[in-house]
Amino acid sequence: MATTKRDYYEVLGVERTCTPDELKRSYRKLAMQYHPDRNNGDKGAEERFKEIGEAYSVLSDPDKRQRYDAFGHAATGQPDFGNFSFDSAFDLFDMFFGGTARRRGGTGPQRGADLRMNIDVTFEEAVFGATRTIEVPRATQCEECSGSGARTGTGATQCATCQGTGQLRRTMQSIFGQVTNVSTCPRCQGEGRVIEDPCPRCRGQGRVEGKHTVEVNIPAGVDDDVTLRLTGEGETGPRGGAQGDLYIGFRVKPHPQLVRHGTDIVYELPISVPQAVLGDTITVPTVSGEHDVQIPAGTQPGKQIKLHGLGVPHVRSGRRGDQICIVRVVVPSHLDRHEREVYEQLGGREGKPAEVKRGFFDSLRDALRG
Ligand SMILES: [Zn+2]
Ligand SMILES: [Zn+2]
Repeated sequence: MATTKRDYYEVLGVERTCTPDELKRSYRKLAMQYHPDRNNGDKGAEERFKEIGEAYSVLSDPDKRQRYDAFGHAATGQPDFGNFSFDSAFDLFDMFFGGTARRRGGTGPQRGADLRMNIDVTFEEAVFGATRTIEVPRATQCEECSGSGARTGTGATQCATCQGTGQLRRTMQSIFGQVTNVSTCPRCQGEGRVIEDPCPRCRGQGRVEGKHTVEVNIPAGVDDDVTLRLTGEGETGPRGGAQGDLYIGFRVKPHPQLVRHGTDIVYELPISVPQAVLGDTITVPTVSGEHDVQIPAGTQPGKQIKLHGLGVPHVRSGRRGDQICIVRVVVPSHLDRHEREVYEQLGGREGKPAEVKRGFFDSLRDALRG
């Protein structure tokens, strides 16, 4: 049966030279106008809607459009619904439901937002832990309505639009066939309940802006990369929604002499040449107070002296690391006359090293050979 078909460009109300964007815009406008949902089952509108969809399915495809331009309706034959691209179908849903289908599904009040705050701690606080009271600016439950959002003495009632389900299911006959679309109820925002008489203090939100004091137990061993989660210390959700969480990050102030390396603490221990040669006892700083360290005679630069258990506790296991003292021999750059004589006597008149260990060159050669 040969029916006279209208020209696709005419159907969409565009010029033959129109750009894909112009085509799309015109299609959206017309599809909105003739959508069956908006025309109370008007047969004429439905026919028009199908016609628009068919025209767009052809002209929005560059290949099909080219063939249509060359051969007219003969090129396309009967409308090929199967070839509708997912993209154009998706556009349609986006257009009619404003993207609501992609919103959070389910019913009930929303959970409050998570918050994040940073706490500055000293090096020692990071090692041993501390307690800190902080003020968190956040939405808190409205005291007047106890978070319900309804005026005192009243309550929320079931949403009549969605019968309390929070969702709208709509089955429609479209050019794509029968499609069921589930969207969040616009009246109750998916909560299933509405407040007819809102609380005047929070305007029905069930929460107000406020400050909340939180005591934070900073565990021993925290570092810049540690995040603490305080469950339920985040924002209050609207109208009795669950509390979000509060995440605490740390900014550890550096120590003037000690450097942290995981659970170990590194300290550069400066000694004089005579101390390195003859040995000595030196007092060094640690996080647990001053500590005496034995420097044996003949200590080489770079030697590591470990002070067991004077490091940082692991934030979870509590196992404490060590303090590692790395010896640096400070070579004097200025000598008085007497010191100069002593060094000259040690080195001989030509200033040669008093002793060169063969072993050093042997091991160097071995290392270079791999
Ligand atoms: Zn209130
Ligand atoms: Zn509803």
